[in-house]
Amino acid sequence: MPELPELEVVREVLTRRLVGRRIESVTVAPKGGPIVVRDLTGRGFVECLTDAEIQSVARRGKFLLFTLSPSSLTLAVNPKLTGRFQLCPPGAKKAGPVHVTLHFRQPEEELRYVDQKTMGQMYLTGDLAGVPTFAEMGPDALEISPEDFRQRLRAHRGEIKGILIRAPFVAGIGNAYADEILWQARIHPYRKRTSLSPEETEHLYQAMQATLREAITKVRQEMGDDIHLKPRDFFAVHMRGGQDCPRCGTTISAITANQRVTNFCRTCQPGGLIRGM
Ligand SMILES: [Zn+2]
Repeated sequence: MPELPELEVVREVLTRRLVGRRIESVTVAPKGGPIVVRDLTGRGFVECLTDAEIQSVARRGKFLLFTLSPSSLTLAVNPKLTGRFQLCPPGAKKAGPVHVTLHFRQPEEELRYVDQKTMGQMYLTGDLAGVPTFAEMGPDALEISPEDFRQRLRAHRGEIKGILIRAPFVAGIGNAYADEILWQARIHPYRKRTSLSPEETEHLYQAMQATLREAITKVRQEMGDDIHLKPRDFFAVHMRGGQDCPRCGTTISAITANQRVTNFCRTCQPGGLIRGM
């Protein structure tokens, strides 16, 4: 379930390890490959990637964007809930079912796209506006200004956690980091947006910045160049239901709705609508 912090570190590693290198060959696995690969150019996924040089690796929300030279095409990868990359020598143990492999030489290495549930997509395109959901994305959570955050928030109704994970509001936050940010801000995940005071909105913005930036530092330390890993042992509340809140010792609550678990501390994050608490 990569979110902004993991993808940001993956971007750093791939920039350092792959920019300026030529893709020697491309393998699309017959089973999952065709589900993952979306060629929006009509010129052939394998054909366009083979021999291309990786010019840059960028991140926007939960997309990783590889710019290719000399074609200027973009490989836009949205790993969704289960997709991951693995950068390794050929023959290294697979981190999961491999759907697409980019092969490099000197040194011999592979960039594998691994996806347990084949949920993610790899779009090859000359126009990012044609990539589903890309154009609707709001500003990146790391880039948005406090003013923009406050203004955009007014356009959204409902529970604050649901708004935080809505990419058209702000891009890069998913279920896990929304829990962490709200715990940091001491705001109950089911509070209505309209009930937040200006001070709470300000706290939320600061908590979002601090939580994401601290997470990037920790992920960078724990992941290193093993980009297929998903270090999350530093989480305060997410997936910690039944354990003690690291701030106050209250047992962390866990509520499951729509197959998503929400974790929070009833003491640090008071209020909200009563919903199975
Ligand atoms: Zn607490």
